[in-house]
Amino acid sequence: IHLVLISVSTVLMAFLWRDTFDAESVRGTRVLVTGASTGIGEQIAYHYARLGAQIVVTARREQVLQRVVKMCRKLGAEKALYVTADMSLITDPERVVKFAVDNLGGLDFMVLNHIGSSNFAMWDGDGDHVRSLMQVNFLSYVQMTSAALPVLEQSGGSVVVVSSLLGKLTTPFVGPYSATKFALNGFFGTLQHELSMQNSNVSLTISILGLIDTDSAMEKVRGKTYMIAYPASDAALHIIKAGATHQKESYYPWFHYFTCLFRDWFPHFRDLVIQKSFTY
Ligand code: NDP
Repeated sequence: IHLVLISVSTVLMAFLWRDTFDAESVRGTRVLVTGASTGIGEQIAYHYARLGAQIVVTARREQVLQRVVKMCRKLGAEKALYVTADMSLITDPERVVKFAVDNLGGLDFMVLNHIGSSNFAMWDGDGDHVRSLMQVNFLSYVQMTSAALPVLEQSGGSVVVVSSLLGKLTTPFVGPYSATKFALNGFFGTLQHELSMQNSNVSLTISILGLIDTDSAMEKVRGKTYMIAYPASDAALHIIKAGATHQKESYYPWFHYFTCLFRDWFPHFRDLVIQKSFTY
C-alpha cells in the first residue's frame, strides 16, 4: 500500500510542480524583500533584479544593504532601494511596508524572509530569548502582512513566507527557532483558508526549506549534522517561482514534500533517524 501511495503521489506532484513560471510576469513588478542583506534574502533580491523587478530590500545593516542595492541595479533591477529596520522593534515592520508602498507606488510581492539569530544547541531554559525571537521571526511577519494586505488586495499581489522543515517536524537543538516556524505555518496556513473563503485577490505562499548552505546556517551546523545543504541561489529562485505561480505551499529541495507526508507514519523510527543525524 505504501509503495502504491508513493508512486501515485510522485506522479501527482510531478504534474502539479511542472514549471509554469513565466519570467516576464515579474518584470516591472514592485517587490519588498526582508532579511535581504545576506543569505537567501540577498539571493532573492538578485534574482528579482535579473528579472527586471522594482525592489526594496531591508535588514539592519546599512552598509551591507547599500552593496546589495548597488548589485541589484547592476543586475538589471528597474529600481532598487533599501530601508534599514530592526524587526525586534514594534514599529519597524509597518514602517518598512509604508516605505515600500510610498516609494514603489504600491506592492506586488512581499517576501518575508528575515530571522533573528539563535543558537544551535540544547535549550538552556532562556524564556526571554524565545519571546524576543517570536517578535522577530513571527510577530513582525504578522504585522507586515496586516499592513500590506489592503495594498496587495488592490494589486492582486502576493505574500511569500519563507518557512522551514523545522516548522513541520522537530529536531534537537532548535527549540526557539522551530517554535517560530511552527507559528508561521499555523498562522499563515489559517490565513490561506480565510483569503480563499473571502475570494481575496491576494495569494499567499509558504515555502518550506530544508538545510541551505548560507554562511549563518553552515556556521551553526558544522560538525554537528550529517545532513546535506542545498544552494542558497537555487532556494531563492524556487521561492520567487513559487510566489509568482501562486503555489500555496512549496518545498525546496522537492523531496521534503515526502518527508512531511510520511512524517507520522513511523514516529519511533523517525525520531531514531533524526537523533542519529546529529552528533552530541
Ligand atoms: P541569514 O542568517 O543568512 O539572514 C538573515 C537575514 O535577516 C539577514 O539579512 C539579517 O540582516 C536579517 N536580520 C536578522 N535580524 C534582524 C532583525 N532583528 N531585523 C531585521 N532583519 C534582521 O538567514 P538565511 O538566509 O539562512 O535564512 C533565510 C530564511 O530561510 C529564514 O526565514 C530561514 O528560517 C529560512 N530557512 C533557512 C534555512 C537554512 O538552512 N539556511 C533552512 C530553512 C529555512 P541584518 O543582520 O543586516 O539585520
